[in-house]
Amino acid sequence: MILFDFDYERAATLEDAVAILARLQGEARALAGGTDLLPSMRMENIKPRLLVSLGAIEPNEPEMLADGSIRIDALSRLASLENSSLLRDKVPMLAESAHVVGSNQIRQMGTLGGNLCQETRCMQLDQKHDYQFVAPCFKRGGDCCYPFPRNKRDICWSVYMSDIAPALIALDAEVEILGEAGRRRIHVEELFTGNGLKPLKLGQAELLRAVFIPQRPRGYTWGFHKSTVRGGLEFGMAVIAVALQIAEDGMTCADARIVIGAVREAPVRLAAAERSLKGVVLDEKRLAQVAAEASREANPLPHHGFTKRHLMDNIRVYLRRTMAQAIGRARSPER
Ligand SMILES: Cc1cc2nc3c(=O)[nH]c(=O)nc-3n(C[C@H](O)[C@H](O)[C@H](O)COP(=O)(O)OP(=O)(O)OC[C@H]3O[C@@H](n4cnc5c(N)ncnc54)[C@H](O)[C@@H]3O)c2cc1C
Ligand code: SF4
Repeated sequence: MILFDFDYERAATLEDAVAILARLQGEARALAGGTDLLPSMRMENIKPRLLVSLGAIEPNEPEMLADGSIRIDALSRLASLENSSLLRDKVPMLAESAHVVGSNQIRQMGTLGGNLCQETRCMQLDQKHDYQFVAPCFKRGGDCCYPFPRNKRDICWSVYMSDIAPALIALDAEVEILGEAGRRRIHVEELFTGNGLKPLKLGQAELLRAVFIPQRPRGYTWGFHKSTVRGGLEFGMAVIAVALQIAEDGMTCADARIVIGAVREAPVRLAAAERSLKGVVLDEKRLAQVAAEASREANPLPHHGFTKRHLMDNIRVYLRRTMAQAIGRARSPER
């Protein structure tokens, strides 16, 4: 596939990049590692007039702040996150979620900001348009939706497949956004619109600057699982991130955050499942019951050849195992 012509500028700072994006009024895109953007451009899903490279801006190392929270530069390469001793020690779920992205080559190039801002995916979208289809779908500005023909034109059920976003939401992380008006900070779960047509609540000239993870509460434990068919170099079939807070007795759940990724237009936080875990003793029977209810609450979209039934079964089985993994970790003397 031959790439169309576009202009290219290298920003010296993130502020410069924002200024260039603002000047081009929606006709420019930021280029970080390029591992998501360039394939989308090759398929002509995205056709910017100009690319603003962030490649000359050196990211800071992840650091622990005075209040015990952790700051991670959005330009950090995923390989540096999976190998960071600070992250492996303090927030291993994040290091693990970076580790399961794509392949080593992808993680050497791909950045945290690019991972969070990646495009939603759909089998009908992710191929060169004139190669297979006559009419463009809604997301390409056309008049139809191939997998969901009854959808109205303002709805697109393409799936958001970041492996890292579910972990960050389970960790209650925030993201710092830089725009023309300065900085703002929101929770990672507030970054998403829930509509595949425009998946992110970011302005045309806004960029992610950093991610902040608050200090983990006493009794915190975690579990993470990514299901794939091949086990490597593959987007998730379903991604499960669990953060539990276990009470002093070592048996009762004081708090829970459960997030499922790669099954909808945005990561899904399972609020009802979280509520039904709070204040109860975490035995096998309860975990199985919560996982069964949670698979219905997640309400996965069929995607990439996986049926809704298959994804619900996957979530039911692996959520139970991931919660059990988290509890086992909390009770392990080596933790
Ligand atoms: C073969 C293959 C396998 C993959 N497997 C996975 C996988 O298993 N899991 C997964 O999560 N992803 C996967 N990806 C997607 C992608 O490689 C990663 O998500 C990667 O982290 C994207 O980061 P990047 O820096 O390359 O983003 P880019 O391609 O540079 O950018 C992606 C998007 O984010 C925007 N952007 C970049 N940086 C910022 C910023 N700081 N602020 C705001 N917007 C920004 C860009 O403008 C663009 O729209 C895969 C990609 C390929 C090609
Ligand atoms: S789900 Fe979205 S991307 Fe896929 S065909 Fe429908 S409109 Fe296009």
